[in-house]
Amino acid sequence: MSDEIKHFRKLIHNCEKAVAFTGAGISTESGIPDFRSPGGIWSKMKPIDFSDFVSSEEMRRESWRRKLVLDQDFNKAQPNRGHRALAALVQRGACGIIITQNIDGLHQASGVPEEKVIELHGNSTYATCLDCKKRFELGPIYEAFEEDETLPVCHCGGMIKTATISFGQAMPIVAMRQAKQQTLSCDLFITIGSSLVVYPAAGFPALAKRNGAKLVINNREPTDQDNLADLVLHGEIGDTLGEAVGVD
Ligand code: NAD
Ligand code: ZN
Repeated sequence: MSDEIKHFRKLIHNCEKAVAFTGAGISTESGIPDFRSPGGIWSKMKPIDFSDFVSSEEMRRESWRRKLVLDQDFNKAQPNRGHRALAALVQRGACGIIITQNIDGLHQASGVPEEKVIELHGNSTYATCLDCKKRFELGPIYEAFEEDETLPVCHCGGMIKTATISFGQAMPIVAMRQAKQQTLSCDLFITIGSSLVVYPAAGFPALAKRNGAKLVINNREPTDQDNLADLVLHGEIGDTLGEAVGVD
């Protein structure tokens, strides 16, 4: 076992309460591409801004077209060793909460109870009306869209969009408030698989550190916040977390 992993194990062992903060990197080993790795989704298609989705029918069509393609990866994805290691930490009581930027639902699928996951960027496994917030399942939407690209519309006349937060869309108030509280109540903050460039989410590691928590960053590539961290781990997430937590 490397000195870095030993250090990581000691930090986990000595903490009262850890918070895990995850990004797209924890799900790449499940076959879901991230945004910013070379060859990631980002380099292939520019994200659609919320204002464009709302103002342009063609953008709404394009957004549903992409969603159908992306779902081919999402629907096959299963939790990997990194998700399982975090689930074990939650189950043992060492990790109080997982704050995630991911929209894939894989933390819940790995056995973490719903109330222990804070989703900052929403969830892509269902849709909601932008006006009355009613929930819609994706199956019937896909059926109509695949036939002749019919756009889903709510009974109230509102536009229906996947329950994710797009660029330019307001952050979910309750989730942000809970994430801030949790960040301020932990003594170990573990950042996993995030390039830490999407704000306001990327502000949480520095907030935890300023509040006195130890900060660990596990990411293949360097981040702008590595200099704040007590420990930086560049290893692959599944192996790193799996070894540190003792989970296969
Ligand atoms: P990002 O794509 O900006 O960064 C991911 C980081 O993870 C990269 O820096 C990369 O080096 C690292 N990484 C990837 N695989 C790794 C591995 N196996 N081991 C170690 N490091 C690895 O992701 P982000 O910071 O989460 O921001 C992107 C936004 O896009 C998020 O807000 C999220 O909402 C959304 N997104 C979500 C998913 C998902 O739900 N799985 C996928 C793509 C994008
Ligand atoms: Zn509605």
